[in-house]
Amino acid sequence: MHRNLIAGEWTAGEDTIENINPSNTNDVVGEYARASADDAKAAIAAAKAAFPGWSRSGILERHAILKKTADEILARKDELGTLLAREEGKTLPEAIGETIRAAQIFEFFAGETLRLAGEVIPSVRPNIGVEITREAVGVVGIITPWNFPIAIPAWKIAPALAYGNTVVFKPAELVPGCAWAIVDILVRAGLPKGVLNLVMGKGSVVGQAMLESPDVAAITFTGSTGTGKRVAAASIEHNRKFQLEMGGKNPFVVLDDADLTVAVEAAANSGFFSTGQRCTASSRLIVTEGIHDRFVAALTEKLKTLVVDDALKAGTHIGPVVDAGQLKQDTDYIEIGKGEGAKLAFGGDLVKRDNPGFYLQPTLFTEATNAMRISREEIFGPVVSVIRVKDYDEALAIANDTPFGLSSGIATTSLKHATHFKRNAEAGMVMVNLPTAGVDFHVPFGGRKGSSYGPREQGKYANEFYTTVKTAYTLA
Ligand code: ADP
Repeated sequence: MHRNLIAGEWTAGEDTIENINPSNTNDVVGEYARASADDAKAAIAAAKAAFPGWSRSGILERHAILKKTADEILARKDELGTLLAREEGKTLPEAIGETIRAAQIFEFFAGETLRLAGEVIPSVRPNIGVEITREAVGVVGIITPWNFPIAIPAWKIAPALAYGNTVVFKPAELVPGCAWAIVDILVRAGLPKGVLNLVMGKGSVVGQAMLESPDVAAITFTGSTGTGKRVAAASIEHNRKFQLEMGGKNPFVVLDDADLTVAVEAAANSGFFSTGQRCTASSRLIVTEGIHDRFVAALTEKLKTLVVDDALKAGTHIGPVVDAGQLKQDTDYIEIGKGEGAKLAFGGDLVKRDNPGFYLQPTLFTEATNAMRISREEIFGPVVSVIRVKDYDEALAIANDTPFGLSSGIATTSLKHATHFKRNAEAGMVMVNLPTAGVDFHVPFGGRKGSSYGPREQGKYANEFYTTVKTAYTLA
C-alpha cells in the first residue's frame, strides 16, 4: 500500500483506493491511501512548521535536491513512463516523453536556484539605497489533474521548492502512482521533513480542506473550470495568491495556402494524440473553403491509420479514455454533435480490444458551426469538429469567438497571415504550422480569458507566482 507523506512520515489515510489501468480494467496498478480532511490539516501544519527553515535554506542544498531528483527521474524514465501509461492510458512513447520532461523541469529549476537575483537601485531621496528582492510565499497548495500525471506535478513542485516554499501536494485521484513516485524520489534526494507533504484523496475532502485553510498562502491549480472557480472564491476569502489553469477549446486554422501534409499532421496530433485529453488539444479545425474538402479527405485517411489499443502495446497511436466517467462525457458529446446537425465524418463508436478498457475511435465531425455545443464546450476526448469558413478574416474571428484562450494554431505558408495571426489570436500560446499541443519546458505556459488566471507557469516566469516582492530602503 502506498501511503501519504505528512511531516516526513509515511501515513495511512482513512481508507484506500485501487488505481485501475484504463487499458485493462482487470489490472490494478496499486493500492493508494486516501487522506482525510484532518490529514490535510496535519500536512498544512507540517508545511507551515517547515517553512522558516526551508525558506532560509542554502541555495546549494536546494540545487542538489532538485538536481538529484532530475537525475533519478531520467534514470528511471522507462519504468516511470510505464507506470504513467498504465495508470493514465497515454501511449508508452508519450508517457516516457512526459517523464523525460519532468526530469528536465527539475533540472531547469535546480539551475534557477543558482540564478536568484534582486535589484539594487538608487532612491529618489539622497543617501538612501533601495533593494528589490523576491522572497518565498509560504505554504503552497498544489492541486493537479489526471492528464499529465508527472509533468504537471513537476512544473508546480519544482519551482515551489526552488524558491523556498513548502508544499502540500494533492494529485488527482485517478493517478496517484506518478505523484507518489516523485514525492518518494524528492524525499530520498534529501528534502527535510515537512517541506513536501503528499495528501492523496478526494478533491471534495482533501482539496476542500486546503481551500479552507488560512495557513495555505498560495494555491496553484490545474483542472476543470468549475473547480477553478471554487479555488478562486476560497482564495479571495483567505486573501491568498492563486493561479488557475483550466480548460481550452483551442482552434487550429487551416488556410487555402497551407502545406496539406503539415496541416493534417498537426491537426491529427493536436486533436487526437493523448486521446484528445490535453488542455492544449485542438478541438475546432477552422478550414477555408478552397482547401476544405482536400483537408477533410486527407485527415480522414490519416485517422484510418491510427491504431486505438492498449497504451503499453507497441504500435498503439491512441490509448484508452481515462475512465468510465470521461468516456460517458465523450460519447454524450458525440450524440449532442449528431443532434445539433454536425456530420459524423469518421469514428463515433466504442472499440473492442483484447483487454477490457475504455476504447473510443477518433471521431471527426464536419459541417459544424461555431455556435454548436461541440464547438463551444470542452469535451476533453478524441472528438474534433471541422468548421468551414470563407477566408482568413472569418477564420480569425471564429478562432477568437470562444470563452477560452489557451492555445491557438494556424497552418499557412503566408508570412502575412502567420504574422497577423500571431498578433491577433486571443490566446496565451500561438503555434504556426505546429500542433496547438506540445510545448517547451523552459518558456511560459498559460492562457487568457476562461482558460487561465494569474501569472504564467514554467520557465523563469514561474517566479512571479512562487515568490513575493520586497522593497527595502536603507539610509546610508
Ligand atoms: P477533472 O475534470 O480534470 O478531473 P477537477 O477540477 O474535477 O477536473 O479535478 C482537478 C483537481 O481538483 C483534482 O485533483 C481534484 O481532486 C481536485 N478537486 C476537485 N474538487 C475539488 C474541491 N472542491 N476543492 C479542491 N480541489 C478539488
